Amino acid sequence: MNKTRILIIEDEKPIARFLELELLHEGYMVDIAHDGRIGLEKAVADDGYTLILLDIMLPGINGIEVLRRIRQSMSTPIIMLTARDEVTDKVMGLDTGADDYVTKPFVIEELLARIRAALRKKDLSKEDVSLLKIFDLELDIARHETKRASQGIDLTKKEYDLLEYLMRNKGLVLTRSQILENAWGFEFAGDTNVVDVYIRYLRSKIDEGYDRKLIQTIRGVGYSIRGGKDEA
Ligand code: CA
Repeated sequence: MNKTRILIIEDEKPIARFLELELLHEGYMVDIAHDGRIGLEKAVADDGYTLILLDIMLPGINGIEVLRRIRQSMSTPIIMLTARDEVTDKVMGLDTGADDYVTKPFVIEELLARIRAALRKKDLSKEDVSLLKIFDLELDIARHETKRASQGIDLTKKEYDLLEYLMRNKGLVLTRSQILENAWGFEFAGDTNVVDVYIRYLRSKIDEGYDRKLIQTIRGVGYSIRGGKDEA
């Protein structure tokens, strides 16, 4: 049996306990660390964790540093638990390699949806997917074709690359720097305005004229592509 094992690194014990109970209820196996140093040790000593929930404000070593050190050797999905006003931390965390974040206080259903999205992304990266789908938007990787509600859409090479990157990470929040590095490569590093410009082009082609908008702006942080309530 291959159970999903989640490590919670969170110093506020009532929150850690609450998360533990909810995750156990969902059928996950759970381990807890109450400070950054112990959390880091657990995370890197045992490569059996499927996913890590990481608080940012931690005693010992802070969450961003824990994240940086985990990422030196591991690609385990990591979701940050951040306070409402820590926009800089969110951006820094995502740029350092976190997969997503939730803002405290959070609704447990939202966190569970983000966990499922992060696990789905991990599974997708293992297999070579040939068709990406969100709601009624389809990207056929082999044919380089894009359709919304069965209507073909013409995208430029860059628009296509951007959309493919968003769709491979559907449901997850991506910073401008992450998008730039992954959809453009390093030659554009630094000039994140280009991301906003291309998101605008893309929206005019895939979202304009449709009731359900798929590309979401995450204020102060970046962008996310989401199909709706059920698809995180
Ligand atoms: Ca904390």
